[in-house]
Parts: sequence; C-alpha cells; structure tokens
Amino acid sequence: MSAVNEALIRDVVQEVLGRLGGAPVSNGKAAAPAPAKADCGCHGNGHASASPGRRGKFGVFQDANEACEAAHEAYQQLSEKGVAGRVKVVRIIKDLCTANAKEWGRIELEETKIGRLDHKIEKLYAQQGIPSVEFLNPLGLSGDHGITLEEYAPFGVIGAITPSTHSIPTMACNIISMVSAGNAVVFNSHPGAYKCAVMAARVFNQAIHRELGIENLACIVEPPTLESFNVIAKNENVKLLCVTGGPGVVKAAMASGKRAICAGPGNPPVLVDGTSCLTNAAKCTIFGASYDNNLLCIGEKEVFVLDSFFDKFMAAMEQNGAYRLNDGQVDRLAKEAFTFPQGQGAGCPDPVVNRNIIGRDPEVLARIAGATIPGGTQLLFAETRADNIFVHEEQMMPFLPIVRVRSVEEGVAAAKKAEHGYKHSAIIHSHDVANMTMMARALETTLFIKNGSCLAGLGAGGEGYSNFSIATTTGEGICNPKTFTRVRRCVLVDKLRIF
Ligand code: NAD
Repeated sequence: MSAVNEALIRDVVQEVLGRLGGAPVSNGKAAAPAPAKADCGCHGNGHASASPGRRGKFGVFQDANEACEAAHEAYQQLSEKGVAGRVKVVRIIKDLCTANAKEWGRIELEETKIGRLDHKIEKLYAQQGIPSVEFLNPLGLSGDHGITLEEYAPFGVIGAITPSTHSIPTMACNIISMVSAGNAVVFNSHPGAYKCAVMAARVFNQAIHRELGIENLACIVEPPTLESFNVIAKNENVKLLCVTGGPGVVKAAMASGKRAICAGPGNPPVLVDGTSCLTNAAKCTIFGASYDNNLLCIGEKEVFVLDSFFDKFMAAMEQNGAYRLNDGQVDRLAKEAFTFPQGQGAGCPDPVVNRNIIGRDPEVLARIAGATIPGGTQLLFAETRADNIFVHEEQMMPFLPIVRVRSVEEGVAAAKKAEHGYKHSAIIHSHDVANMTMMARALETTLFIKNGSCLAGLGAGGEGYSNFSIATTTGEGICNPKTFTRVRRCVLVDKLRIF
C-alpha cells in the first residue's frame, strides 16, 4: 500500500474515532478542542505531539490562526535541529514527491481537471532539482578591523499562496526553499486545488514528525478561503508572504501591509526573426506551449513571426505535431474561451477566461472550435491579428495565436504590448545578437530565453536551477532559499584574525 493511501486511511479512522469519542461537531466545526488522539503506532519514535489541545494535526488546520501558531512553534523547533535538520526535511519532501509522483499527479489532475497527467507527474519528479541549503553561502569579510560575517537568516513563519495550475508542486518547492532557509510555512491553496495539497501536506508532516519530532512545519488551511488568507496575512507570527498566482492575489498581498514576494501572472510572447532554424523554433514552441496544456506561467502564449518566414514557420508547426485552425474555428473557440463582465462585449478591457476550458486537452478545444484533429495533436494554432483577444489574454490553454509582423521592430513592440509590463518571460528564436538585445532591453522580463522552449528558462534544456514560484512582480526572480532569508551581519572588532 502506498504512503498516501495509508495516510488517508489512518486519517479517516482518526476522524471517525474523534467524532465518536471526541469533540461534538456543530456547523461543520468541532465545538471544542478534541482530546489528544491515541498514536496509531506509525509514529512510535518517542516524539511527543507538538500541538496538544489544537484541533489541527500533522499540519492540517481548519483555523488559520491556529495554523500560524503551530507553524511558529515548529519554526522554533526547527532552529534547534540546526542545518542538519533542514537537510533532513528537504530530503523527506523530495523523496516523498518522487515516491508518490504518479499517484499524486493523478490525484491533482482528478481534483483540478486541468493539465496533462504526464506533466503533472514530471513536475513532482522535478522537485529533486530544487536548490537547498547549499545556496546559503555566508559572506565573510576580513580586514585590519577584524572579521565580519553576513549570514542568511530565516524570517520565521511565511504565509504562502499557491495556484490551481501546480498545487502540490508549488507547495513542495516552496517548502524546500523556505525550510532550507530555516523557516516554517502556512499555506492557503487555491480552493479548486486544495484537497490534493492537504493530502500531501499531511504526508509531509507525518514523515517530518517521524524523523525529527516536528509536527507542523508546513501547515495548510482546510478549506482555504479569502478570509483565511486575510487571517494568515494579519497574524503576527507571519513575517513574510509569498504568493504565486494571478493579478488578484498579487494585489491582495501588496495591500496586506506585510512584505510580500509576488510570483505574478505572465503572458509570454515569442519572436521568430527567421535568422535561426525554423524547425527548431516550431518544435520548441510546440513543446513549451503544450506543456501541461499551456498552464505554465512561463509558457509560450503568442508568437510574432517576420512576414518573409511566416509561411515556412506555419508549415513547420504543422509538420511537428500542431494543428492549424481557420478563422471561423478561432472565432468559435474565442466565443467559448472568454466572457465579458457586466454585459460588455468583445473589445472590453477585462475579459474573463472561461475556467472550464483552461488547461483542457487539444481535443476538447478542437470540438468547441468545430475541428476534427488527428490523434496525438499537441497544440492548436492559427494566424491571428495582433489585436486578437488570444494575443492579449493569458489564455492558459493549448491554442496559440501566431501574428505576422513586417519588421523586428514591429515584432518587439507587439510583444511588449502583449506582455503587459508583467516583466515575466519572453522568448526569441534568432541568431542575431542585435535583435536579441533589442527585445531583452525592450521587455525587461525576468526570464529571457533564446533558441529554446520556455522550459529552458527553468533548467529543462537550459542551464540553471528550477522553481515553481518566479517572483516577477516584486523582482526577486526565480525563488530559491536565499529569497526567504534576512541578511544579518555579525561583526568582531580587531581580534581573531589569524594573520
Ligand atoms: P489565481 O490568481 O486564480 O489564484 C492563485 C491563488 O491566489 C489561489 O490560491 C487563489 O485562491 C488566490 N487568490 C486569488 N485571488 C485572491 C485574493 N483576492 N485574495 C487572496 N487570495 C487570492 O491563479 P490560478 O488560476 O490558480 O493560477 C494561474 C495564475 O497564476 C496565472 O496568472 C499564472 O501566470 C500565475 N502563476 C504565476 C507563477 C509565477 O511563478 N510567477 C507560477 C504559477 C502561476
């Protein structure tokens, strides 16, 4: 039996026992703290429960303030375990993600109904590559006046918000980065993707408790609500927020009064200037835009191609697994893909993407568009005008608008407009350094990828480490353990130098 099934069964049994002999339940909430439950035997390591009297267990809390308190206690316990303790936690998270990748990937897909199973699984295997404590090299200064050390110290408890697009993967890599830096964390997941996150958090905390005796290092609120986010943001134990999501949550975090690391929305443009291999450009574009059915914030969302190479590029897309829609089919898809608030029509500034078709398979989109596509089609695409709604909205579905431009300057200007100043990600296929430089300077994105798919920007096919939180809005870049630290300086005057 897998770890997750054991955990689920154990929790169901504990829940039933709690209801029979524990706190009475009213309005869906326990009216009084449940008595300490008997240890089921799986945790017979002599470690006492860290939270006697609390209703939450193994990191899962109905009350957001309780979660923050428990995380604060866990933070203090972690500091007693030293760096070796953090290393153990990181190993536990990575190994559980690897061991449960197939099952957790399936469970997340079943709950959210968005994305692709193969990529949900890959995103859990990818946790092995998330950087850890090795990132925290202190800075040592030595001179006539003695020795100074600048160290990367933890904040304490971090409040973290995770998206529906990668619920468990974002939670796991946030834990790895934050705990590597010595912090504890409280999560408020997306309401449409929280059950899988709660399940994984419980398994993580049970394993951490077994090995280190810390029960609530990575807490999660069940169910998450806007109110629980506000409670976390206001709790005095929470010293820092880290939000990964769209414009709404970024705005809410910035307005909270707490320091916030914001991994915000994107709408990454691609420019193809024809100076590099068009087949490679098409293959990379298809790979990136079809990954998890285009749920990635770094994923290619619109392409600008120089007029003289346009037809060849479109042919290369068709030859490499993408299916071309005609104008009528694009219009039908657009009608279903976007709604316009308050009775406004097309052209209104704030269309809403239909969440029912975000991250769905190409077959589903093709049916809506009225197209019959061959089996194995990875992506749909079409020629559109630069002002098409698919160019300007972060559609997060495997359909890509391709726009013809007359010059590189026109392409860069159109790409900048489509990126909306999010400063998130952009891609160019080119062997012309001047064109690369022009685009990089104009868009100022956090990730700028040349001649690869968007995933090369996170180390898959390019050099570099990975993370599922890319702090674009607030500028910290791809999150890593250092992102979640305070720099503290320790100065020793005159003595202790050895020369
Ligand atoms: P979303 O914005 O709907 O939700 C993200 C999270 O924010 C969820 O937990 C949600 O419950 C919460 N939230 C939303 N509005 C809130 C508010 N007003 N107050 C408090 N919490 C709020 O996004 P999603 O559909 O889950 O994810 C897709 C979005 O996230 C896209 O815009 C994508 O670009 C972005 N994203 C960015 C990164 C990054 O690293 N920069 C990574 C993944 C996703």
